[in-house]
Amino acid sequence: MSSSALGQCLSFTTQGLVLQPVWDYLILNHHESLRSPLFPVLLSITTYFLLVGVYTVLDLLAPTWPSIRRYQLHPHLAVPPSQVCTTLGVTLYNHLLYIFPAAVAQWLWKPPTPLPAEAPTLWGFFLGVLGCLLVFDLQYYLWHLLHHRVPWLYRTFHAVHHQYHRPFSLVTQHLSGWELFSVGFWATLDPILLRCHCLTTWAFMVFNVYVSTEDHCGYDFPWSTHRLVPFGLWGGAPKHDAHHQRPGTNLAPFFSHWDRLGGTHGEPTISEPTHSEELDHVKD
Ligand SMILES: [Zn+2]
Ligand SMILES: [Zn+2]
Repeated sequence: MSSSALGQCLSFTTQGLVLQPVWDYLILNHHESLRSPLFPVLLSITTYFLLVGVYTVLDLLAPTWPSIRRYQLHPHLAVPPSQVCTTLGVTLYNHLLYIFPAAVAQWLWKPPTPLPAEAPTLWGFFLGVLGCLLVFDLQYYLWHLLHHRVPWLYRTFHAVHHQYHRPFSLVTQHLSGWELFSVGFWATLDPILLRCHCLTTWAFMVFNVYVSTEDHCGYDFPWSTHRLVPFGLWGGAPKHDAHHQRPGTNLAPFFSHWDRLGGTHGEPTISEPTHSEELDHVKD
């Protein structure tokens, strides 16, 4: 690449040129919807249910489709429809009891989001999303460590999430109200702390939901985030799956550096059916 081309490329990433047409289109066509305090909540909820819908269809097809089953972390174990119903029930209950009132409160009391005329630079956009992920990762790691080390906290607030030893996508939000509030609070607060552009904030929210759901999906696809991020820096589905079987390990939700530094890192093991699981599989 010539020096002038390289210079042009750098100026594209440090100025708003790459994202400006996207941002202009959004402001021109969806100005009122984007300004609404409800927009980030609806964006997160829609992303979650779309992802969970896709993974659940895969789960239900996997027992008869070997081409799907080959990517499962536990191919010998089907996801029982009864567990899909139970986790969906808890998810809907949480949405009605916690997320819906929080959304109404935001709608009533939060002023409309100011939309700047300029898009973020590409560099600022990626740094913002990465920064939010790193801060969120540390916050959840500390929360998670505390809730596994203090038996009362574990029993009262986190044990509900550990009812499933072989997670599937709907387990992502099979959470107590306190855990749901904590993760929702950080996901809202972190972009404000890092002074992110609203486009960066929404991208972080969508990606946060994507990787949280991927952590629980029970699949190891070639495009899974832990395969795309080099040097084992990203834990992903195999390590979070291992956390559900060995709860003292892999406490960070996304990256693996805090677990390595804190001595809680654990490599996932190859899945073998236990005797009771074999019986469950036969029953289902
Ligand atoms: Zn989990
Ligand atoms: Zn845990």
